[in-house]
Amino acid sequence: MKFADLGLSDKLLQAVESAGYTEPTPIQAQAIPQVQMMKDLIAIAQTGTGKTASFVLPMIDILAQGRKRARMPRSLILAPTRELAMQVADNFVQYGKNHSLSMVLLIGGVQMGDQVKALDEGVDVLIATPGRLMDLFERGKILLTGCELLVIDEADRMLDMGFIPDIEKICEKLPANRQTLLFSATMPPPIKKLADRFLTNPKYIEM
Ligand code: AMP
Repeated sequence: MKFADLGLSDKLLQAVESAGYTEPTPIQAQAIPQVQMMKDLIAIAQTGTGKTASFVLPMIDILAQGRKRARMPRSLILAPTRELAMQVADNFVQYGKNHSLSMVLLIGGVQMGDQVKALDEGVDVLIATPGRLMDLFERGKILLTGCELLVIDEADRMLDMGFIPDIEKICEKLPANRQTLLFSATMPPPIKKLADRFLTNPKYIEM
């Protein structure tokens, strides 16, 4: 299979090509059509499988349509650590270079004032660690009611780091008719429980 067979936009295919990739990895071939159909997904995959691009690529095409609104991010990606959040952001910059999407990275150790200003200007994709997101949410700086696409990345590491209660609180604030994608290297019972509660008829793929 080639990337061109996946129905991605020409602008996106050009960015993928200039990154040097010609064929989707197995997780990309399975996950991308599911995301394009706006369906929920559970993907059991290790780092190194190309899992980040499996959600970043179709999200760029989805977000290229529609308009952003102040303080109401249109999509949210939760990552367990600053480093992982930054890696996801790098992927958006690389593959989204032919699009004009606005991205905000909400991680600890960065001036909150700059983050708040960026949120006020409207955000297509918000990439956050759960702690910093909850902090800004509780200060009333973010409205999650317009967020129709949620990605929970490295869910098993979220569990190890004690973030599951925060993730539950965040999921409760999002609209019920959203699309949710959950990525994890393993599926321990608390993650299964989280998925049962917050995903709707998810497709399950295991690499
Ligand atoms: P990830 O599993 O998302 O951490 O990605 C692992 C590595 O695979 C990253 O360095 C990507 O740049 C690379 N990668 C992603 N998609 C592809 C692809 N289709 N072909 C070759 N390498 C890829």
